[in-house]
Amino acid sequence: MKNPRFYGLPHAEFRPSQCDAIQKISALHESGGGIIFVDSPVGTGKSGIATALGHFDTVTVMTSTLELLAQYEKIYGFTAIRGRQWYPCVYNKKIDKWNGQYAPTAFDCHFSKMHECPAASECPYLEAKYAVIGARRSVMTYRYGALSSSIAKRPGFLVFDECDTAVREIVAHAETLIDNAEIHQLFNIPAHGVFKANSQDCTKSGKIPANVANFLFCFLFVNSVAVE
Ligand code: SF4
Repeated sequence: MKNPRFYGLPHAEFRPSQCDAIQKISALHESGGGIIFVDSPVGTGKSGIATALGHFDTVTVMTSTLELLAQYEKIYGFTAIRGRQWYPCVYNKKIDKWNGQYAPTAFDCHFSKMHECPAASECPYLEAKYAVIGARRSVMTYRYGALSSSIAKRPGFLVFDECDTAVREIVAHAETLIDNAEIHQLFNIPAHGVFKANSQDCTKSGKIPANVANFLFCFLFVNSVAVE
């Protein structure tokens, strides 16, 4: 292999296992793709491997922490995006509405289609979003990546950094809201039925059939369920 700088790394020599990993992953990619797990201790240059893959195709890295995201951004030159609350809103009407008492961010945006905002061309969040969609090497958190349909369409390599944390991070962000009316409609429960946090309590009350209560109880563990 050539010098690491040729592959976009900021140093002159590869660490021992980096070459091997890069060659194996790029070969798999050339042959049509697949899933590969890279198991290596801290300090062996995993971020460098992800960076080098950008020589072959587009790379999208997801991390569980903002610290790791910043490392990709600052050391390896990835284009990064963070949550909406990190970007100020620059729409004058919105800023005036808060009258200096609060500095709105893109998190407070009221446009369901943000590109329809009169200030869209100057919106820092949209700028960051378009940059990360078009970049050769992009990085974001699992939580951001899991919710973005634009990111899902990016071709090339998808790197789950510290992938043992991926499921926890993604599921932690999932939320399902069910109101009382929907529960009654879905399961044909009498109007006075009461749902409690414990399935035994529900079935003891006789107001919710055991199978329904058990289903709801299990559901709590895979989703965040809000019952009004
Ligand atoms: S799209 Fe407009 S209103 Fe929304 S965050 Fe950006 S500048 Fe503010």
